[in-house]
Amino acid sequence: MAKVYAITNQKGGVGKTTTSVNLAASLAATKRKILLIDLDPQGNATMGCGIDKASLEYSVYDVLVAGRSVADCVVAAPECGFMVLPANQDLTAAEVELLNEIGREFRLREALAPILGDYDYILIDCPPSLNMLTINALAGSGGVIIPMQCEYYALEGLSALINTINRVKQLINPKLEIEGILRTMFDGRNSLTNQVTDELRRHFGEKLYSTVIPRNVRLAEAPSHGLPILFYDKQSKGSLAYLALAGEMLRRAGKTDPHGDVKEDEQ
Ligand code: ADP
Ligand code: MG
Repeated sequence: MAKVYAITNQKGGVGKTTTSVNLAASLAATKRKILLIDLDPQGNATMGCGIDKASLEYSVYDVLVAGRSVADCVVAAPECGFMVLPANQDLTAAEVELLNEIGREFRLREALAPILGDYDYILIDCPPSLNMLTINALAGSGGVIIPMQCEYYALEGLSALINTINRVKQLINPKLEIEGILRTMFDGRNSLTNQVTDELRRHFGEKLYSTVIPRNVRLAEAPSHGLPILFYDKQSKGSLAYLALAGEMLRRAGKTDPHGDVKEDEQ
């Protein structure tokens, strides 16, 4: 059964999409079956995987609003080794169209139920707000991955997100947990970075990934080629960091799951 993770932070530009695309590629490189769901009307994750958002037959909009099956709407990310449920501008209308629907928070969860057996990991790239799309992601996930930049105001924004996660957990999805906090665009030479890191460790302990994603221009270039960093510049620091993150995730999963998520050849 797939583990489902929402990659979310209501702040824009913190590395949600970069993390979604590159973690999907890194996990796929370990032979896991991966589905990446683009839940942002900007469609950046879709484009970043080399899929043209302007010429989609179906998108996640059709799943959420028209009740079309996920299996019908997924497309293969060319040469990347994983599947994508893509998004484009159509998704902007979804929130309004869902407004009067009963059970609107559960649209994504219900749609994912029949395909959970087809994947090892499902990653959801969330929009930069705590709207109904993000609530759908949180309602349908087992864990939340929070990418953040180590800057002064970052912690302030986190409390609103943590409150939302706790409300969703209380009211609609008791199994929701914070899976991990990921430091992105990391620059260890900056003293503020170290202060924020100390603070994050105090608040979140082991949930803070020890892997950090460095600021790396190759990561910013890769989307314009429609490629995850792994296929654009495999040896770059950014690529190695996302491979390390996938490794850390799999080791964590192996610790909590007695049947182990780490395959024998990786131990
Ligand atoms: P979000 O999805 O949270 O809005 P993105 O992943 O789109 O954030 O990242 C915002 C911008 O920063 C993009 O232009 C992206 O290419 C760039 N970026 C993300 N992570 C890094 C990094 N580690 N190093 C350099 N640039 C990055
Ligand atoms: Mg994004």
